[in-house]
Amino acid sequence: MPAIELSNIDKRFGAHAALAGVDLAIAAGEFVALVGPSGSGKTTLLKTINGLSEPDAGSVRIAGEDARALPGHLLRRKIGYVFQEVGLFPHLTVAENIAVTPRLLGWDKPRIARRVDELLDLVALPAEVAGRAPSELSGGQRQRVGVARALAAEPKIMLMDEPFGALDPLTRDALGGDYRALHDKLGLTTVMVTHDMAEAVLLADRIVVLAGGRILADGGPASLLATTTDPEVRGLLEAPRRQAERLRERLGGGA
Ligand code: ADP
Ligand code: MG
Repeated sequence: MPAIELSNIDKRFGAHAALAGVDLAIAAGEFVALVGPSGSGKTTLLKTINGLSEPDAGSVRIAGEDARALPGHLLRRKIGYVFQEVGLFPHLTVAENIAVTPRLLGWDKPRIARRVDELLDLVALPAEVAGRAPSELSGGQRQRVGVARALAAEPKIMLMDEPFGALDPLTRDALGGDYRALHDKLGLTTVMVTHDMAEAVLLADRIVVLAGGRILADGGPASLLATTTDPEVRGLLEAPRRQAERLRERLGGGA
């Protein structure tokens, strides 16, 4: 049984089809990168999975269960969501930000405190950031808090919308690697939107290419490259290799 199953999803905004006939089944434990040009429907697809966007047609199943059978807020507690702009509450401390969902769930204070400590440790943040305001953190640290907050109620599914897009390349690399390790350790199912094909190839088991609201290609990085005949998909997938080759030429054989 897939962890996430979208069947024949259509979503229109006025005359514009944001998603058209999308079928996508994601197995438990998979790490999927969702790539595609701006406006191709990536965010809409993520929001369809957690019920923030209601499809005009088609069905969404989470662990075999029809998503419509669950009230939206309950669905979203089972599914962690990390936004592009992090979206931490600026007037709350780091600990309070992480505790938002546990509070809503009515956990008692000692349990929340234990969970916050555990989550800070999990995302490799020092315990002393707990009392700070988000503005007192670096961009990378804020994004780690975003991941911790999304994981607070132990979801099995994580949706991430360009989570590392605004970070410098080194921070981005470190966070991507750390998140992949977390995904494996916690046995998560992850769908990550990224603009960066190198990031997709390095982190994901499977790459789904969206264009104009349709899935243009879907497969493991190597098999996609071997099988796709679509020039756009081929160009996208070859970009990281071309970049690596140019780097090697400029920096010498050791790079
Ligand atoms: P992506 O995340 O790939 O950039 P989106 O899913 O945000 O794409 O958007 C897909 C298309 O749907 C775009 O053309 C966008 O303008 C349109 N769209 C998305 N959300 C809305 C909305 N709430 N109202 C109107 N149009 C929208
Ligand atoms: Mg988007």
